[in-house]
Amino acid sequence: MTDSWTPRTKMVHAGTRRSQYGEVSEALFLTQGFVYPSAEAARDRFQECGDDEYIYARYANPTVAMFEDRLAAIEGAEAAFATASGMAAVNGVLFSLLRAGDHVVAAKALFGSSLYILETLLAGYGVEVSFVDGTDLDAWRAAMRPNTRLAFVEAISNPTLEVVDIATIAEIAHDGGALLAVDNVFATPVFQRTLDLGADVLVYSATKHIDGQGRCLGGVVLGTTDYIRNTLEPYMKHTGGALSPFNAWVMLKGLETLALRCNAQADSALDIARAADGHAALARMIYPGLENHPQHALAMRQMTKGGTMVSLDLKGGQDAAFRFLNALEIVIISNNLGDAKSIATHPATTTHQRLSPEQRAALGITDGLVRLSVGLEDSHDLVAEVLQALDKAE
Ligand SMILES: *Cc1c(COP(=O)(O)O)cnc(C)c1O
Repeated sequence: MTDSWTPRTKMVHAGTRRSQYGEVSEALFLTQGFVYPSAEAARDRFQECGDDEYIYARYANPTVAMFEDRLAAIEGAEAAFATASGMAAVNGVLFSLLRAGDHVVAAKALFGSSLYILETLLAGYGVEVSFVDGTDLDAWRAAMRPNTRLAFVEAISNPTLEVVDIATIAEIAHDGGALLAVDNVFATPVFQRTLDLGADVLVYSATKHIDGQGRCLGGVVLGTTDYIRNTLEPYMKHTGGALSPFNAWVMLKGLETLALRCNAQADSALDIARAADGHAALARMIYPGLENHPQHALAMRQMTKGGTMVSLDLKGGQDAAFRFLNALEIVIISNNLGDAKSIATHPATTTHQRLSPEQRAALGITDGLVRLSVGLEDSHDLVAEVLQALDKAE
């Protein structure tokens, strides 16, 4: 592989390991273990496992390694470790890095399970956490303490699609001697060079755009070779969050089409946002690619497109949101995102149901908010679909 290849070429070729058969499509090594030719070879392998040598699939597997190497090449990361789910990746980052007495600064608008780990689990192990508004840079600065070890943020918040300034938060973290870990799901590997912006550790739920067809759970952590091999890998190896080789194979094939899919989805998202913006049923059309988005300039500086998600804040509250959802014919009602199928979610009654009304209000999650993950259907059909559903929600 050549480093000068663009990410789109790497999506198709990077990390490929061919067996003696010279297969075109990546081989699926659906095996938990590996045979040693002799007792001495087994002893040697356990003493020192080489780069492309394997012992047990909880540690590493050739198909999983292809997925890790391909994504690392795409992101320009030194190394990657694939995990059973996005949450296994987030958990791996937090528990491998933090010890009792450490302090974390995190954006308050986080994926629910990430919030649970920070607020409930880590607190029980003596790790202190401060939550800040991710877009308030002064709040990030003010929250730093001498024992701050980590800053943790989602590149674009869910479901209100606030864009955070990765480069400045990285600077604030580094000035305080801390690392910055970014959950990059909403920005995708296609639209944002998050490590180049200064992030130290990158986390993905591969369940979303990387699979892109709603089949498998998976996740991945990217970072320096030192962090991945000496800090994260021992934690993951011994706690069992490895990615299944079958799922890794699905994700590898997903990476081949990732740029095409995400770009098409983002183009349709912009079409929908433009067409629906100003509709009488809407209090607000939220899309980072729209000029009226509060962080539009930052989004366009940091990203090549506005992403594949749009959020619609309906004036008529939950009743209007439900009328909108029930008028959809192409878009399905579900809670995944990044899928080929367009998906609509009502966060207040599903993904964010467990939060109190006050917590939802603090995060900007109104009863009228609908999150739309834009899929691969024809954009004209999607625009017509959203406009007719908005008419019915008025
Ligand atoms: C889905 C998601 C996760 C969790 O990923 P799983 O694969 O479901 O475990 C974490 N962070 C963000 C931003 C997500 O969208």
